[in-house]
Amino acid sequence: MLTKTKIYLSSPHMGGSEQKFVNEAFSTNWIAPLGPNVDGFENDIQSYLGGNKYVAALSSGTAAIHLALKILGVTKGDEVLCQSFTFSASANPILYLGATPVFIDSEKDTWNISPELLEIAIKDRIEKYKKPKAIIAVHLYGMPYKVDEINALGKKYDIPVVEDSAEALGSKYFNQKCGALSDAGILSFNGNKIITTSGGGALIVNSEELKNKAVFLSTQARDNAPHYEHSTIGYNYRMSNVLAGIGRGQMEVIDDRVSARRKNFDFYKTHLSKFKDITFLEEKNGFFSNRWITCIETKSYELREKIRLELLKDDIESRPLWKPMHMQPVFEDYLHFTNGFSENLFEKGLCLPSGSNLSQEDLNRIVNNIKNTLKF
Ligand SMILES: *Cc1c(COP(=O)(O)O)cnc(C)c1O
Repeated sequence: MLTKTKIYLSSPHMGGSEQKFVNEAFSTNWIAPLGPNVDGFENDIQSYLGGNKYVAALSSGTAAIHLALKILGVTKGDEVLCQSFTFSASANPILYLGATPVFIDSEKDTWNISPELLEIAIKDRIEKYKKPKAIIAVHLYGMPYKVDEINALGKKYDIPVVEDSAEALGSKYFNQKCGALSDAGILSFNGNKIITTSGGGALIVNSEELKNKAVFLSTQARDNAPHYEHSTIGYNYRMSNVLAGIGRGQMEVIDDRVSARRKNFDFYKTHLSKFKDITFLEEKNGFFSNRWITCIETKSYELREKIRLELLKDDIESRPLWKPMHMQPVFEDYLHFTNGFSENLFEKGLCLPSGSNLSQEDLNRIVNNIKNTLKF
């Protein structure tokens, strides 16, 4: 009998042209650090996102959030409102800048930042301290947050919105691409994301001036002089030309990757939604998720764990949903505006294997395993 292979939650999936672009970098000796692949990759993302956007390719999504907050002027003593139900990288850069996070819970339609709680938090902070310096909203698992409502609050109170689109390249909000819907968007090309450069990210801004500022900061903030002259603290955050070559190859297949992930979701839903103990997050009208990860909500913590452990026995990786930031030991002392929603999801939710390279055989194996658990 053939031994079964391990099924991962989300693994890299090369398209074919990546090596060509990487080889080009080698044969032209554009190894370090900038070069034509960086420009090419930025142009690819820019034209994919549409709109009047400017893209800076960086070393990670976390670096992109850090620079986004930096160019929006976040500094020591400021407060930044941040979606609590997310990966820690959304919030860590607030602390890098000596600012203070205030966490906001999610709402049921999108599992993302609740517009109601956000406004309550803004009013509270203005009354008791001062106006928060930025809002970080996240299109978690690829599902868009309520963009119009969040942008309207940003406008009403004059607070810029940072759009954490690390998990949502290819998602759309009323036909506009996520990442390009706010004052500053960010993408991640980490190994588990919908496309990858093995590690990388991008910052998306609304003017060439802001892009230049971000690039300047990401390349150690060198002033214009023949020697090394610095009047600002810089960072080493630029993407390398070799990795951007992988990105160019990946951008050729982004649409295929989105449809493969959406097909995974449809397959799981077709086979599992007849079990009343399992529910899926549907798209509201106008919301288009890349379905980066298919998530299920089960009826109880016990059932969630039973499903997860049975999958594990068969060498199938699954994972509880993100643990909200306001419950994390490192963040639990910070102010938070919560409604119990993300805590409930953390308790009962599970991420299923969702790679664009899953075979039909893999999908059958996963679904049969879960069906077996649900029958008992
Ligand atoms: C992956 C991720 C990031 C960080 O991206 P890196 O490229 O890994 O630094 C930020 N926010 C969210 C929601 C993510 O999933």
